[in-house]
Amino acid sequence: MCVGHQPSAGDIRKERTVISTPLIFHIDVNSAYLSWEAVDRLKKGNSPDLRTIPAIVGGDQDKRHGVVLAKSGIAKKYGVKTGEPIVHALKKCPNLTIIPTNFELYHRNSQAFMEILRRYAPVVEQYSIDEAFADMSGTEKLYGSPTRAAELIRDTINRELAFTINVGISTNKLLAKMASDFEKPNKIHTLFPEEIPFKMWPLDVGELFFVGDAAKKKLNELGIYTIGDLANGDLNMIRMHLKKQGEVIYNYANGIDISDVLHKEPANKGYGNSITLAHDVTDADEAKAVLLSLCETVGARLRADGMKANCVSVQITYNNFVNRSHQCTLSASTNVTTEIYDLALQLFDQLWDRRTPIRLLGVSTSRVSSESYRQYNLFDTEKYEKLEKLDTAVDKIRKKYGEDAIKRARFLEDKKEEKESG
Ligand SMILES: [Mg+2]
Repeated sequence: MCVGHQPSAGDIRKERTVISTPLIFHIDVNSAYLSWEAVDRLKKGNSPDLRTIPAIVGGDQDKRHGVVLAKSGIAKKYGVKTGEPIVHALKKCPNLTIIPTNFELYHRNSQAFMEILRRYAPVVEQYSIDEAFADMSGTEKLYGSPTRAAELIRDTINRELAFTINVGISTNKLLAKMASDFEKPNKIHTLFPEEIPFKMWPLDVGELFFVGDAAKKKLNELGIYTIGDLANGDLNMIRMHLKKQGEVIYNYANGIDISDVLHKEPANKGYGNSITLAHDVTDADEAKAVLLSLCETVGARLRADGMKANCVSVQITYNNFVNRSHQCTLSASTNVTTEIYDLALQLFDQLWDRRTPIRLLGVSTSRVSSESYRQYNLFDTEKYEKLEKLDTAVDKIRKKYGEDAIKRARFLEDKKEEKESG
């Protein structure tokens, strides 16, 4: 049948598939919170570089409460782990420098990071505050080899933003994400399907994406210790013990992931902003600090466009991927940060059970209009005008002197209260 064979649509499709093999990058900021803090401090002339000393981000130095959210490489050498209580970390390393969180700073760096990615990648999907997937398929003609493209992105971020990243390169999101987690920092790794047996299979099964402590324990009981054991295990048995998750991780262990890099259009959704947090949040104060920073950007954007919103909503995604949102209509349209924030706080308190760890927080506004009049409530007129003037002044100063020039009074008040109570 080979003689005189005419290429069929199937053949062409096959050839196309070969030509357009997907090329996916996973880009991950190294010790994001700590790096961003280090860069910010160096810019302000504060030495030493936090990345070169035992340092962590998390909690408050005076009260020594909270958990480690990010650590320097040196702190890691002392055995300090992300997610552990700061008191434990201090036992391992008594001269640890502890930096309180600053979500405004993280948010700003996150945006700058995403902007650079969008410069190089046709499609970018932000995955968390410090991670993104980029679909780089078909960019070889532009940048050369995948590794060369990754170097280009890495060097641009190093040069313009002064922090380091890891880039994982493969043909799907799962493999790219696994690859970026190999040796750190400032490294580029490939994990193409043909590299799976020697790069991924020898790893502990707990290292596989979506395998948490509970799943790892069950797998170990089944005699599965490495990712390779799982990949070559009996799917029926795995499914029997781990249900749907068993099937997913079995596919992952074999490098199979069918999800695409989504092109998320942030525009025209009204004015909103959300953050997938780098770790699960269970602390109300931390969640509220994140909410304030989201309200800041939403408010500033509304004001920049001369718009006001009549409806505020808060969205929470829990670490079990359950989504919840609440919204509330205002008595009068606003673009005042404090008003948006006060409402967001109420909605947040209604929504959250104060137990389930939070993975994503979002604030959005709708029923946006440019009407410049406000149906004044007689009693709040004076207060509103003051707040409006305050926001306008803040926006101007920030535009002129940078985001850091002014800090919300609430941050300062919080600090004062902590001092007084502590
Ligand atoms: Mg990271």
